[in-house]
Amino acid sequence: TGITELLLSRIRDVADYPEPGVVFKDITPLLADPGAFAALTDALAEAAGRTGATKVVGLEARGFILGAPVALRAGLGFIPVRKAGKLPGATLSQAYDLEYGSAEIEVHAEDLTAGDRVLVVDDVLATGGTAEASLELIRRAGAEVAGLAVLMELGFLGGRARLEPALAGAPLEAL
Ligand code: 5GP
Repeated sequence: TGITELLLSRIRDVADYPEPGVVFKDITPLLADPGAFAALTDALAEAAGRTGATKVVGLEARGFILGAPVALRAGLGFIPVRKAGKLPGATLSQAYDLEYGSAEIEVHAEDLTAGDRVLVVDDVLATGGTAEASLELIRRAGAEVAGLAVLMELGFLGGRARLEPALAGAPLEAL
């Protein structure tokens, strides 16, 4: 199909962002094109259907933009995983290492329970650190990982291999 070409044509490479030597994949042109955004939402919702997910987790912030319409399209609830300190209720937290320093993500403890099968949605899989932490969080909440679905995987960073243990056989779909 032409969906790969359509999506790729709407992703802009921005050199030296957020720091020198990095080429950032900017998805804002894709979001601004309703046909491409709809095609992306449909494809990710189909992935959600294939995994038998019962809930969609979106990773702040672009995972919110993609995850919310995917959840609606798939008929599933949407659960935000946020950077630490943003959620008002009782949370579970997961810290993870960055190239320099560390970060922490959180989910409302009551949003995920045993019996949930959770699909994680994000825009770009880079080193896999963020996704890995989210999968840990889901398991610690007692829920099952249904899979991870992303628009784009930066293969040269090795995220897929890093995520193998955390996915434990659940699918990683990169459009
Ligand atoms: P990772 O934890 O896999 O190294 O980085 C993935 C996270 O950083 C994702 O939440 C993603 O939104 C963001 N990210 C890293 N690199 C890029 C990029 O080139 N483009 C976009 N849009 N997001 C990126």
